[in-house]
Amino acid sequence: MTAKSIEAVLDAPRAHWVGDGFLVRPLFGPLAFTAAVSPFLMFDWAAPADFPPRDEPHGVGPHPHRGFETVTIVYDGAVDHRDSAGHVDSIAAGDVQWMTAGSGVVHEEFHGRAVAAAGGTVSMAQLWVNLPAAHKMTRPRYQPILAADIPVVSLPGGRVRVIAGPWTGADGSEIVGPADTFTPLAVYDVKLDPGADLRARLPGGWSAMVALLEGSLTIAGERIAATRTVVLGRGGDEVALTAGVTGATLLVLAGRPIDEPIAAHGPFVMNTRDEIHTAIADYQAGRMGRLDPR
Ligand code: MN
Repeated sequence: MTAKSIEAVLDAPRAHWVGDGFLVRPLFGPLAFTAAVSPFLMFDWAAPADFPPRDEPHGVGPHPHRGFETVTIVYDGAVDHRDSAGHVDSIAAGDVQWMTAGSGVVHEEFHGRAVAAAGGTVSMAQLWVNLPAAHKMTRPRYQPILAADIPVVSLPGGRVRVIAGPWTGADGSEIVGPADTFTPLAVYDVKLDPGADLRARLPGGWSAMVALLEGSLTIAGERIAATRTVVLGRGGDEVALTAGVTGATLLVLAGRPIDEPIAAHGPFVMNTRDEIHTAIADYQAGRMGRLDPR
């Protein structure tokens, strides 16, 4: 095993509101939508925040997406989802929603109704995963991945939930996460006690990022503070890190890079400017479907 080296450590950018429900930090900062983080595009972290009771849930109203996938991981509370392809769902803490926008959907994302009514803590992460050109116009799809469906690997002083991709144990045994993906990638949800080690084996040539949500860690001799993202090099085949004195909550995001041009404009991610113009026109003409009012 050869440990991957650090390419860049991204500072925690300022938080901004998505709708009135999610105060997020875009943890990929200036490297979002670049080849450096491919096959991923963007990563928003909404740290735990308390909301008072409210009849109408906070959130973000109808908006479109085309050309990629949105992956929502709920840490606290619940998130309700509704889209123009007919998917209506609510996911709670520990659950994941893997939505393939593909050719286009209009969707809305709100705090769960019961959580909103009672008031409470909401925390979530949303990852945008690119689609290769050949699949950008695939049919929209919705994969609810419940906590019970996600394999949990116990480590000395921690655990890994394998949401997507292969996980190779210390004894060489392999398990595969439940997410069905268009390109090979891995998403590990990791919690470590103070001083605990993580060693994650990955196929050669994959990109890898460590998004540190809470706590601190040391990787390749460098101390990393919370809400920083470490971008690792494509060389090497292992992510090796050690949690700091308060432990660490982190995501390992890794995958085979998609070596294609990226044309990103708001909620649309295509390969060319022309395709972006088509996406805007298709959305405005209602060709991504519509959502009835709540
Ligand atoms: Mn959205």
